[in-house]
Amino acid sequence: MPDALKPRLKPSTIAAHAAGAKDDETGGVVPAVHMATTFERGPDYSPLNAQNIYLRSHNENVRVAERLLSKLENAEDTLLFPSGMAAVAAVFRTVPNGASVLVQRQIYWGTTEWIRTFCARRGITLHEVEASDHAAFSEACAAHKPFLAWIETPSNPWLRITDIAASAKVAHDAGALLVVDSTAASPVLSNPLAHGADIVMHSATKGINGHSDVLAGSLSTATKAAAIWQEIMVDRNTAGAVLGPMEAWLLTRGMRTLPLRMREMSTNAMALATYLSDHPKVETVMYPGLETHPGHAIAARQMQGGYGGLMSFVVKGGAAEALRVTGRLQLFLRATSLGGVESLVEHRHTIEPHTGIPEGLLRLSVGIEDVDDLRDDLGQALGQ
Ligand code: PLP
Repeated sequence: MPDALKPRLKPSTIAAHAAGAKDDETGGVVPAVHMATTFERGPDYSPLNAQNIYLRSHNENVRVAERLLSKLENAEDTLLFPSGMAAVAAVFRTVPNGASVLVQRQIYWGTTEWIRTFCARRGITLHEVEASDHAAFSEACAAHKPFLAWIETPSNPWLRITDIAASAKVAHDAGALLVVDSTAASPVLSNPLAHGADIVMHSATKGINGHSDVLAGSLSTATKAAAIWQEIMVDRNTAGAVLGPMEAWLLTRGMRTLPLRMREMSTNAMALATYLSDHPKVETVMYPGLETHPGHAIAARQMQGGYGGLMSFVVKGGAAEALRVTGRLQLFLRATSLGGVESLVEHRHTIEPHTGIPEGLLRLSVGIEDVDDLRDDLGQALGQ
């Protein structure tokens, strides 16, 4: 492909071609798997390949997946981790002891739980704020001057939408970095760096891989030279939270269909959200694609091509009724996680009973099945 064409390539093309990663040695149209943990030096003791010394720091499959993610996120650099939580931890390990951080309230419970424990152990003051309320977020930034602010949009499982550009502005005015967990959007539907975020984080276990068979996380930066990024890079190499070659290879394979999958999931989710909104047994539907969603206008501005496959709805009748509905579902698998090709349902109150989650809330991860089948399944489970 002539270089002149490359800047104009769209995400679907970049992804389908895995950002040009082929196996030049064999002519294979997909990259080979490189499992070597160590690499040879020549008689003069210089490395045979200066890019490869030891697996903890150097692996071609990891680099291929990182390059592809950087292209999809419009990032200067990307680092992969062995889980989303390892990526979260890599960011927070850069916070100096005694500093303060601002973290969005009611985000993925695992993130909140880990950050609370970590901050307590390290003497870091943690301020939790409802970041989708921009006035509250802005006030907290100005008052606490945190080292970093952490938002998650769309949030899991409340589907709250935080204005990334407005948050970046007030965070930067307060001298803070803005980090965005964009897992529910994936790099296809939103590019937080383009809206002013400093770092974007993903649980790549979700939509990025998309097949419920790889655990991984990623961080991408707008500025490779930034001090925090350099620190994260060094820490990953020395502390060793790295992704294995096979997982990285699988991630690349998954990403080749990412734009296609996100489009289909978004279309299906939009149709189901509309259906559920009109259902007499449903109290509320939380999906940013709905015009009635309080964050719809912001989501429309900072997301493109759809609103993702994650949604929640509250069944009338509380926990007992919600569990009855889940028990009757035939196609939606009763399992945690999200972003895979198969649809999942979860009763979050069973998992996190003390976090204020409505007892009747069911979280759906909408997959790529035929939407009529999914609608019929929800219909029979709810009882029309
Ligand atoms: N962030 C969000 C929004 C998530 O949903 C999850 C997992 O569900 C994580 C982070 C953690 O990712 P992982 O399970 O890959 O460690």
